[in-house]
Order: sequence, then C-alpha cells, then structure tokens
Amino acid sequence: MSLLIVGSMAFDAIETPFGKTDKIIGGAASYISLSASYFTSDIRLVSVVGGDFPHTFINNLQERGCQTEGLQIRKDEKSFFWSGRYHLDMNSRDTLTTELNVLADFDPVIPDTYQNTDYVMLGNLTPTVQRLVIERLKKRPKLIAMDTMNFWMNVAWDELMKTLALVDVLIINDEEARQLSGQYSLVKGARTIMGMGPQYVVIKKGEHGALLFHENSVFFAPALPLEDVFDPTGAGDTFAGGFMGYLAKSRHHNFANLKRAVIYGSAMASFCVEKFGTERLLELTPAEIEERVHSFVDLVQFDIELQNA
Ligand code: AMP
Repeated sequence: MSLLIVGSMAFDAIETPFGKTDKIIGGAASYISLSASYFTSDIRLVSVVGGDFPHTFINNLQERGCQTEGLQIRKDEKSFFWSGRYHLDMNSRDTLTTELNVLADFDPVIPDTYQNTDYVMLGNLTPTVQRLVIERLKKRPKLIAMDTMNFWMNVAWDELMKTLALVDVLIINDEEARQLSGQYSLVKGARTIMGMGPQYVVIKKGEHGALLFHENSVFFAPALPLEDVFDPTGAGDTFAGGFMGYLAKSRHHNFANLKRAVIYGSAMASFCVEKFGTERLLELTPAEIEERVHSFVDLVQFDIELQNA
C-alpha cells in the first residue's frame, strides 16, 4: 500500500564521542523514506531542497521506489542545515546550528498522483505544514502518524493542538511526551495525549526501548543492546519509517499489528545508529532485517512457570 512521507531533507554536521562529520545527508524525510523503502515500494515523498542537494541521493531514493514529484528543488537556494553534538551518554545532544534556508517558507505541494494515499507519515516540521498536507489530501488516508518536538510545543502550541486532533498516531520521545502532557508518568501522559486526538501513542525511550499505548492497553519493545553505537542521529525517524513501512506492507492497523510495527521500527533504528548518517540504511538486506527482528524476539522470550497459576 502507498505511504506518503513529508519532512526535512537536509545537510547535517554531527559530532559524537566517536568522530565528527562535515556536511552529510540527513533530514527526517531522508531517514523515514530509506527505512520505509525496505517494506513498501510505493512511497510518495513531499519535501524541499536547494540546488546544492546531491542528485545521487535523490536517485538512490527513486531507485528504492520513492516518487519524487512532490520534492521541490529550488535551484538558487540552499538546503536546510542542522548541526548537533552528542554528549558522552549518546542519549542527549545539543543543537549547534539550525539554518532553515528552503524550509523557512516551505509550502508543501501534493501532486495529483499522490492523492488516494493509504498511509501518511508527517515527519517533524511546523505543525502548520503538517496540517496543510492533511488538508490537501482529498480523501482521508487509512492512518496518519506524526512526529513533533519540544520546540513546536514552545512556539506553536495552538497550531500543534489543531494538527494533533487530526492524526491517528503520535510518535515522540519520553521527554517530549512529558512536556506535551504535563505528566511525569508516561502512562498518564499517554492517556492525556490520546485525549488530544491520536488513538495510538508511541513513546520512544532511546536505548531503553519504546512503548505503544492504545485505550487501556500498553506494549513494550526493548532496544537491542548493541556493541557499537556511532551516531544516534535519525534513529527516531528511522523507527517511524520502519513502523509505517511495515503497516503499509501488511495493510492492517489493529493493535496487534501496531505491536509488530514497533518491533520492525526498533529493528530499523538499531541499524541506523551503527554508522554515521544514512550510511547503514543504504546497504541493508531483507535477510539482515529479519535476522535482527529474530534477535528482538530472542531478547524478550522466556519460559516461566507461574507459582499460583
Ligand atoms: P532525529 O535524530 O530522529 O531527531 O532526527 C534528526 C534529523 O532531524 C536530522 O537529520 C536533522 O536534519 C533533522 N532536523 C533537526 N532539526 C529539525 C527541524 N527543526 N526541522 C526539521 N528537521 C530537523
């Protein structure tokens, strides 16, 4: 089934305790699209880049099944640029630079060929742009998921509330969930967020896994303990791409299937952090992905005889 992805495509400069990169390709939509492309070959990309953005990467996406009619290339302008530095624990980072460039006045275009899209992933962008994408789709998709961040909660609360009311799934990290809900408990927080619109809330906890909430049910997926973590940039977006890609492939979105989607999302995120930028996501094989999903199953499977059963 088809999956429409909107988000940034960027140059990133990253510093981690293991090394430093000059401008490499990043951006939420880049990570989401690459990750989802391992599950569905009908991806419709909506984004904007400048004339400086490498065509080779766009070609890579096209070869992996991404339609790029909705990708605006503004020849005389510069692409979005972000740089960040990770702390020693790799769980937290400081943003050093954000140059919006082409993203400053991004007006998303939805080509006719993108209408009748089944699934939508709204990557982290201004909530107004995220809502414009929903409004410009003539038929409501089967499932709409979105990501957001603390910044939009601080500067665009009312807009964020309007957009949240229109989506089915919110995918955010624990710190963001706490700020959005005003609750320390993630259980209470998820309930508060579900009251804002989404029926499903996914809360990512970095190396401590992810939680999926729906009505009174909760599911937990661990993160795979990895020997080497080089660069966590894009892990959240890669999770979202795997999650939505799996749903688009399997065509169901009941709670049981969303649980599987969380496992696939977590598996994809575990690959992303193994190398800098999008590098690892360009070289995966379906067999490697299946093997990693098996590692997740092995990680949490155990036999137990309950004493008072
Ligand atoms: P993540 O590590 O999953 O939070 O995503 C990192 C990616 O988000 C990087 O590749 C950045 O280019 C992109 N990014 C950072 N800040 C923003 C922003 N304000 N708007 C859109 N994308 C951003």
